[in-house]
Amino acid sequence: MKFRIDQIWIDDDAVDAPLTSAIIRKTSGSRVFVGEDYKAEARKLELESDPFRKGKRIIRLMKRKGVFVKPCPGTREYVCCNLEIIHIGQGCPMDCRYCALQFYFNKPVMEIFVNQDDMISELHEYIGGSGKAFHRFCTGEFTDSLALDPLTGLSSRLIRFFGKQRGASLEIKTKTNSVEPLLRITPDGNIVVSFSVNASEITRREELHAASLEERLKAATLLQKAGYRLGFHFDPIVPVGEWKPAYALTISKIFDVISPDSIAWISMGVLRFQPVLKEIVTSRFGPVRYFHDAFSPGLDGKSRLFFKRRIDVYRFLADKIRLKSPDARIYLCMESPEIWEQSLGIKMNSSADLSNYLDEAFRVAS
Ligand code: SF4
Repeated sequence: MKFRIDQIWIDDDAVDAPLTSAIIRKTSGSRVFVGEDYKAEARKLELESDPFRKGKRIIRLMKRKGVFVKPCPGTREYVCCNLEIIHIGQGCPMDCRYCALQFYFNKPVMEIFVNQDDMISELHEYIGGSGKAFHRFCTGEFTDSLALDPLTGLSSRLIRFFGKQRGASLEIKTKTNSVEPLLRITPDGNIVVSFSVNASEITRREELHAASLEERLKAATLLQKAGYRLGFHFDPIVPVGEWKPAYALTISKIFDVISPDSIAWISMGVLRFQPVLKEIVTSRFGPVRYFHDAFSPGLDGKSRLFFKRRIDVYRFLADKIRLKSPDARIYLCMESPEIWEQSLGIKMNSSADLSNYLDEAFRVAS
């Protein structure tokens, strides 16, 4: 998938980076602004009626000054998978109506960090110096892992780096089908490429400019053939209308083309959001029906569907998945031990337990 880029903004200290020149070459039709010139463009963007939409066609190239690696900002109140995030950039050219990035970042343009060498050095030191037995890393927390990869080439570089790491794994998460460069690499067992999946109708209506479910599954089959391990994330599950047959169909479609043995894990998370996101989404897209369902505030301040409805949803999907793959490593994103037990029948009392459960995917593989 190729996304249209109208403008490239370049920080003064990023002008000479080799990746900056490479990206300019690949986006030859885009207008380029450096330093003070792009600050004038930024002021104009603030006056747009929907800066966020326009910002999805603008890339800022910059050097990251802070750390690249940090723990996932999970909440202590729920069972968290203890993922570690590699901060590869932020913002996304796709435009899912439910996307939390609309709330997290007030900067509407996409940012790419051009100092990739610093990222790799930091990862080296981080893994070597942490004393932790195993790390599960992921890109794509503040962006999609592959959406801008045709410009940055970063995922291939990270896959090669992690192939040499015995104490760490890498997960690449996407809603695109931009996997061609990955197919040229022979992956090690510690690399997982995962796809966010949903009911087809939700994908079509809510995930604007993303790959269709069929395109994602086609990409997944190519990766499977190339030897990659795969992940699937049903997140956010939006249980509206005839949601049961719709999600059952997505599960069938996955297992029609993907072998259970290729799947490292499958996660589930019912729609949850910071209350202010509803206002942002309404102002950008008009009223979105499912944001007006019956929600209650969770311990993390997010609006969540009621306990019993979440259990029904998770139980339904888990039953369908287990019919196809009885031993599937299913996990819940940010839920309580009670929900885990009542929906999946699994005792998952702490984040450390969940961390071990997911790390196990690599012990089984090795
Ligand atoms: S693909 Fe992910 S990061 Fe991009 S808009 Fe959709 S939810 Fe947000």
